[in-house]
Amino acid sequence: MSVRTRFLSILLAAGSSSAAAQQTMTGYGAAAAARQREVERDAIARPAPSNASMHSKQLSRETHVAGTPAQLTTASYVIDQMKRWGLETEMRTYQIWMPHPTSVHVSRVSPQPKSLALAEPPVSGDATSSTWQYPTVNGYSGQGDVTAELVYANYGLIEDYAQLDSMGVSVRGKIVMARYGRSFRGIKAREAEKHGAVALLIYSDPQDDGFARGEVYPEGPMRPSGGVQRGSVMNSNGDPSTPGYGSTANASRVAPSQMTIPRIPVVPVSYGNAAELLKYVRGKDVPQTWQGGLSFRYHVGPGPVRARVTVSDDRATKPLKPIYNTLGVVRGSEFPDEIVIIGGHRDGWGPGAADNVSGTVSVLEAARTVAEQVKQGMRPRRTIIFATWDAEEWGLIGSTEFVEDDSLRLGRDAVAYFNQDVAAQGPRFGGGGSPSLRATLRDAARVVPDPNGKGSVYVEWRRANAVADTAEPAMGDPGGGSDFAGFYNHLGIPIADWGFGGAGGVYHSQYDSYAWMTRFGEPGFQYHATAAKIGAVMALRVANADVLPYDYAEYARTIRLLIDPIERRVEDRKWSASTASLRAAVDRLEREATVFNTTRDSVLRGQPAKAVLERTNRALMQVERAVTRPEGLKTRPWFRNLIYVADENNGYANMPLPSVNEAIRTADEALTRRELADLAARFNRAADAVATARASLLGR
Ligand SMILES: [Zn+2]
Repeated sequence: MSVRTRFLSILLAAGSSSAAAQQTMTGYGAAAAARQREVERDAIARPAPSNASMHSKQLSRETHVAGTPAQLTTASYVIDQMKRWGLETEMRTYQIWMPHPTSVHVSRVSPQPKSLALAEPPVSGDATSSTWQYPTVNGYSGQGDVTAELVYANYGLIEDYAQLDSMGVSVRGKIVMARYGRSFRGIKAREAEKHGAVALLIYSDPQDDGFARGEVYPEGPMRPSGGVQRGSVMNSNGDPSTPGYGSTANASRVAPSQMTIPRIPVVPVSYGNAAELLKYVRGKDVPQTWQGGLSFRYHVGPGPVRARVTVSDDRATKPLKPIYNTLGVVRGSEFPDEIVIIGGHRDGWGPGAADNVSGTVSVLEAARTVAEQVKQGMRPRRTIIFATWDAEEWGLIGSTEFVEDDSLRLGRDAVAYFNQDVAAQGPRFGGGGSPSLRATLRDAARVVPDPNGKGSVYVEWRRANAVADTAEPAMGDPGGGSDFAGFYNHLGIPIADWGFGGAGGVYHSQYDSYAWMTRFGEPGFQYHATAAKIGAVMALRVANADVLPYDYAEYARTIRLLIDPIERRVEDRKWSASTASLRAAVDRLEREATVFNTTRDSVLRGQPAKAVLERTNRALMQVERAVTRPEGLKTRPWFRNLIYVADENNGYANMPLPSVNEAIRTADEALTRRELADLAARFNRAADAVATARASLLGR
């Protein structure tokens, strides 16, 4: 069937007021909704597990760390595919200060000297496990050659150092051994250095993702005794030599001594190697909660075991390395200046089948879907960009440089950003994002079938999480930790992300491979294809809407829940600061949004003019920007969005309403009062933007 006849039949169906045409779709008039349903049905049929598997195999053929030649190969692969489908493409290159290791050694000096074999050993049945692997060193580790006694510091959290203090144990001049988990590894590095450690070893305890959790690779999905979690230990986003602006070839650079990066060597080790050191540590017995899963009693030390850690890199000779973002563009037919972006990072620490070939594959299949639709005459009304980012693993670098480089246009024109990071490594759906887009994501999950054949992704999502009839499934808050940060935290652009999870025991290891994926992660690649179907539906739903489908009533209701804990913390401190004006502003936002939603639905029963829609949408795009402060957070100026941020003391935990909560944490009542007033004023401006949108819609 040609597209022209298909569109004709849709128009007839809409005109004949069929049942489908009567159903509502947020932001769409009845005729547009019927047409959109047809576009989405078509889109859902296109992403295919066989294509997903083929792309996955190609993109995970070799370790492709940012800054290595293999990463140019993956960029070329993506560009070639997108060109073949007829997309406009662009490879956007930045020069990143990103040292790569030249040598890494860890040895036990005493008792019984032993040099540890740091590389991950090959395993049978996994072809890429015996190919070149990236050295086991953390991204942005410092250089050094140190020999010292070992101290075991549990997870290396702030409270773990307080515990060590209370036991009379200092890490000053020592090598700290800490386990992964409970915090971002960059915070572990910062705290070890702050407390005077001369090096940090971070290991994957079997209790966290090894044999205590399940069979280990290659018998099962979990981390084997030789498996290593690599990863960056930088705590800021983007190239550390160009804070806040793009790392273009001629950009001015901050000197390494001025960068906020670790100074001490930070090396990740397997639990096999960790045991070679930890089993000889004596000194104080550990608090019971510090005992991990290795088969001996843990001790804190210090010593008597002494270790030597050596790290050197190429920062003196070749610190700048090119990175490659790829963009595939579909120009919108009616509102080409309004941009919907869907992206995922393309770099990994190993073959990266899950992290993040799966996300790249999802973006690719969504891109092919829309490209094929365009060829058949179904061009989206807004511009859609399909992006793959480089160097996410080093600190969200590719996406951050893109956002910083193009911040004026994105701040003005970006309608939404959708992120795909580990899009599929199992069957279990999870999603999140700005509260304004959660309803849209639920709607997309409702129309995409789950591969289990028992209904939609939404139905399976509810079932797997045993969600009560009266509730919606819980969704994640965008604190940070993936490529949406530049869009959301820096510019205040609404975002959503989703993926299908499972047992992930090979995170950031050479064993995150096609072999692992086909045996344990997602053997049939149906969930890869399903992530892409959701991506295509999300992009098209937003790109084709008459009125952008943000729900600022749900947004306001979600924010309101964040005020209660603030009120309790203020009362606990017996401060006179009040949350009343903040509460009033958020209430007003909800009222304005509720009225707007009703007005929108009734106006869309008519035929609003294009200029009316354009003005309305431009006003709606200002709502979340209004709660984004140009000067950023006091603690971190790059973070401008005042709704969510990653907790600066943890990195993984999410801190809501950070300007206020960080003021409370510093016990500064005057600042808390100022931040409450500032936030209330911004929510009032957000409510004003919704009111402007409503007036525009009514032609005022
Ligand atoms: Zn990732």
